Amino acid sequence: MILRAGVFYDGTLAEPRKNVDVVIDGDRVAEVRNAAEGTQPDVAAACITPGLVNAHVHMVGSGEANTMAAVAAMNQNQAMLAAVANAEKSLRAGVTTVRDLGSQLGIGQALRDAIAAGLVPGPRMRAAGRALCMTGGHGWFIGRPIDNPWEARKAVREELFAGADCIKMIATGGVLTKGAVPGNAQLLPDELEAAIAEAHRHGLRVAAHAIGTEGIKNALRAGIDSIEHGHMLDDEAIELFKARDVYLVPTLAAPTCILEHIHDGSQPAFVVQKAEQVNEAMLRNIRRAYEAGVKVAGGSDAGTPFNDHDNYWREVELMHELLGMTPQQALHAATNRAAELIGLHRGTLAPGEPADMLLLARDINVDIRALGKPQLVIKAGCKAYDSRS
Ligand SMILES: [Zn+2]
Repeated sequence: MILRAGVFYDGTLAEPRKNVDVVIDGDRVAEVRNAAEGTQPDVAAACITPGLVNAHVHMVGSGEANTMAAVAAMNQNQAMLAAVANAEKSLRAGVTTVRDLGSQLGIGQALRDAIAAGLVPGPRMRAAGRALCMTGGHGWFIGRPIDNPWEARKAVREELFAGADCIKMIATGGVLTKGAVPGNAQLLPDELEAAIAEAHRHGLRVAAHAIGTEGIKNALRAGIDSIEHGHMLDDEAIELFKARDVYLVPTLAAPTCILEHIHDGSQPAFVVQKAEQVNEAMLRNIRRAYEAGVKVAGGSDAGTPFNDHDNYWREVELMHELLGMTPQQALHAATNRAAELIGLHRGTLAPGEPADMLLLARDINVDIRALGKPQLVIKAGCKAYDSRS
């Protein structure tokens, strides 16, 4: 199959190319070459980019106004059906790879395997299984309690046994859990260290939910691979990020979508009040971290209130608007960077890489929202979604 692009972005920060043919062989990219006269492409589009990579999703969440209540109330069948529907929704919106950072009942792992086996449509996935949290801590409804270092080690072993291919830890309170204070540290340094060392021994990367300053630094010092949210980071945290080469996944869409819907009165007051605090810190701190050279990877916390799985284009737009990234830099964060963090592939379009790509009606440099309405989504060399048919 030959796809012709007016403008071609390969997912890196290399200069975009004009008038390019992308040749697909099977499930991989065979060649990217200048469009040859006389060669008839199978499809042509104004712009081609890699498929989007979302490093932070919850497939069991569907953007409900009260996510905690909705997820905690679902039985296994309901949660699985929601996750299957969300996987298809992601793919149709051009998200071809995700990292699920917390689901109950083994749902993330089962969904990942069903997609890989071709049973249901969806993106390539990594899944953390249950999040490791303190007893009653943030996210308990998609988590499991640990209250000392040996429980932390055992929890990693059990999640690994249950098929997790990354680990999620809760280092601070959060917005969506009633009673949890986002600024407060939750899991202790020795619990973080024990779990991270155990996970790394088995080749699993560890992501920490961390909003408060102390918890962010606890996780960074304990050897974490990525900080999720990171909104209250300070100068010392920025230095730790850089010295330890840790990714920041800022989930800008999560508080933004909550605050965009406060006037309909559908959300619990505790969610709105905490989102306002967190949003203020986010606007103050995340751009500073990016400008200081912290590696920012795209992740939206899809599944949280009004932040649905087909909304990832919004995270890309917010990285452009709030962090000062160019559209190409935001695309890089949401493809190549996020893919590096997830570790399944490089998230770029080059010979030998997976043929996951989007055909868009407009150049993203002119209209970044073109990412939200792909004309054609290709995953593993096959048409996953065609808006024109
Ligand atoms: Zn999350």
